[in-house]
Amino acid sequence: MKIIDSEYKTCPNCRELKKLDEFHNCTKAKSGKRTYCKVCTLVMNDVYFKRNPQKLKTYRTNYRFKRRRTLEGFLAGLYSNMRARVMGVKGQKPFYAGLEIMSRKDFINFGKNDKSFQRLFNYWLRNGMERADVPSINRINPELGYIHGNCEFIQQRLNSSQTRNNKRYFQILVENKVIFPIAEKVA
Ligand SMILES: [Zn+2]
Repeated sequence: MKIIDSEYKTCPNCRELKKLDEFHNCTKAKSGKRTYCKVCTLVMNDVYFKRNPQKLKTYRTNYRFKRRRTLEGFLAGLYSNMRARVMGVKGQKPFYAGLEIMSRKDFINFGKNDKSFQRLFNYWLRNGMERADVPSINRINPELGYIHGNCEFIQQRLNSSQTRNNKRYFQILVENKVIFPIAEKVA
């Protein structure tokens, strides 16, 4: 299919390349079109999914599913979780209120340049995206926040004190290449 730039536009929310008529007009915009597609606009306004609750689930699942497979999308998702723990989510008390947290941009840059993250991420993707293998963020010093120098990527299964404290179990996991602890932890 030949794609003519001027007839299509990528919506930065759903990341889909869509025909221009799938975007509302906007006289103020250079392109003459709104930034987000019609569906996403509705989604953002919550209208569409209030009318079609069953579609909300599908949309969320598909979008997250795709996005989660990209380095940046994955890191952004991880950051949202971290942020929710510190700031709390709508109406809920934060888990770690008052803890310091770096900016989203800094976190994504940090992750993209972190070798152990890339390795864990690729392993997780290639091996069926098992929940236990998913890269998660560990605060090296639990007293400190999600700040530079205090964050490392480890597999989800390792990010529980029970597993970490059970040296024998840990060793078995390492020997069987189930987990890839970062270098200093192996020594
Ligand atoms: Zn969209």
